[in-house]
Amino acid sequence: MSLQVFGMPVSRGVAIGRAVLIASSRVDVAHYYVALDGVEHEIQRLRDARDAVATEIGTLQRDLPPEAPTEIAALLDVHLMLLHDETLTGATKHWIVERHYNAEWALSAQLEVLARQFDEMDDPYLRERKADLEQVVERLLRQLAHDGDVPPPLGVPGVRDFGGEDPLVLVANDVAPADMLQFKKSVFTGFVTDVGGRTSHTAIVARSLDIPAVVGAREASRLIRQDDWVVIDGDAGVVIVNPSEIVLEEYRFRQRQSELERARLNRLRHTPAVTLDGQAIELLANIELPDDAAAAVTSGAVGVGLFRSEFLFMNRAGDLPGEEEQYEAYRAAVQAMGGLPVTIRTVDIGADKPLDRLSVNELRHEHQLNPALGLRAIRWSLSEPSMFRAQLRALLRAAAHGKLRILFPMVAHLSEVRATLDALARARAQLDDAGRAYGPVELGAMIEVPAAALMVDQFLQHFDFVSIGTNDLIQYTLAIDRADDAVSHLYDPWHPAVLHLIHRTIERAQVLGKGVSVCGEMAGDPAFTDVLLAMGLRSFSMHPSRVASVKQRVLRADTRRLAAAVARVLAAESPAAEAASLFGGALLN
Ligand code: PEP
Ligand code: MG
Repeated sequence: MSLQVFGMPVSRGVAIGRAVLIASSRVDVAHYYVALDGVEHEIQRLRDARDAVATEIGTLQRDLPPEAPTEIAALLDVHLMLLHDETLTGATKHWIVERHYNAEWALSAQLEVLARQFDEMDDPYLRERKADLEQVVERLLRQLAHDGDVPPPLGVPGVRDFGGEDPLVLVANDVAPADMLQFKKSVFTGFVTDVGGRTSHTAIVARSLDIPAVVGAREASRLIRQDDWVVIDGDAGVVIVNPSEIVLEEYRFRQRQSELERARLNRLRHTPAVTLDGQAIELLANIELPDDAAAAVTSGAVGVGLFRSEFLFMNRAGDLPGEEEQYEAYRAAVQAMGGLPVTIRTVDIGADKPLDRLSVNELRHEHQLNPALGLRAIRWSLSEPSMFRAQLRALLRAAAHGKLRILFPMVAHLSEVRATLDALARARAQLDDAGRAYGPVELGAMIEVPAAALMVDQFLQHFDFVSIGTNDLIQYTLAIDRADDAVSHLYDPWHPAVLHLIHRTIERAQVLGKGVSVCGEMAGDPAFTDVLLAMGLRSFSMHPSRVASVKQRVLRADTRRLAAAVARVLAAESPAAEAASLFGGALLN
């Protein structure tokens, strides 16, 4: 039966594929593809885990004290029976052989299928056996976690070296940004999650994959089943499950249209971003890993405006990258950009970007009540001085290989500015003592909290540039958790208070003769290009996939006309409507 699920569009285009469901309780299970010649090994891991669990249950049975209730022995019998049931281990094998999932992923996929079958049973006794099944799977997963096989290192997960199958789309309750990273090189052609806001980090990473995605689709992971055919309409924020042939045909047509549109935009790659009145506009790229630099260059970006270095720190099970590893990563990014400037932000860990694989829901409920207001970004770095200095040393050393700029996230207090500059001075002194070479760097602060926007004059006495992180600036100005779909309708980039803070920051930086750019999601949304140009912005940083559409907008803009209208937009009750009438064009939000 065909059905529709509604959510928020976060990455454009149409994806059509079979659903791969990632159950919310299992997002901490590693998901990666195994190579063709690794399939047999993976099946053997599963067999070994099954045998070990059988022995474990056997031992439990043998050691049961005679006075133990008979139900316990019966329960263990059920567990053994489930363990050897073809529908569990046999069918799990199928996911490994056919889809090349690693054993843990295959098990959770099969658990998903079986759990639904249990849910649909009329007999309450049988329905309750689902809990037993989950316990057996937990035992298997525990065994697999201890068999010494480690997931592939960051940067090389999920590459499938075989083809000829149906395209796959990912459906999950929530995906931690760390897990999302694992999927970066995988074959998913679209994403749907139940929770999340437009600028949650999961959505941002989804956008960086440049594939259609819908978040905040509430019931999606409950309504969609493993292997269902799914259409993700990333423009409208709609997910169509098991569409009819006629609907499918319509979407295939739209898919072809958007591919044509993309090809057309790509032709702008080498066109300089200059407005009708001759203003050169700097279009920079946001990246998460050094490997993304290649996409940045191909997009036509003239540098990296934001390298979110925290992604190097994720999925490490506590083993954070040291100075040497970071140096290599930063140097790789700088060299890949071939002389173009690279702005690297020091770690912004915390809030909805935990170090490990926790999803936002887990974080919220199990860890901190209010992570967005907690120990994140520069606060975290300053609380870990030796780690912070190691990152700074790595950055300074990488600066010897090209034009590198360091950006500090979420600065709000002048005391933080001072502590940051002290840490940098100490990092330099340590390099001097060690006789290590390093290069010059420009320093910048992110403007992400209203306090910073109001303190920009004082901050700019210490920094060469500021970069406006609108994702957080909106979150903190409007007190809207950017990752919470329940309040996402109030997350409004057009809110006059937000526009005033952005405008003020741009104006002050220009008066003081310092650099200013926007690196939040607003910079990559053509709906905001005109209003940002009108405010005087000349430097935008966005995902590489957005560069061409923003450039198209820039090429059609006349900054003199736009600047003349900015006061009216800012004073309007509805700036969005005013901008639409003054500047024209489609206004997305
Ligand atoms: C922002 O807040 O706008 C930003 C660019 O940083 P992040 O999205 O990584 O928090
Ligand atoms: Mg931010």
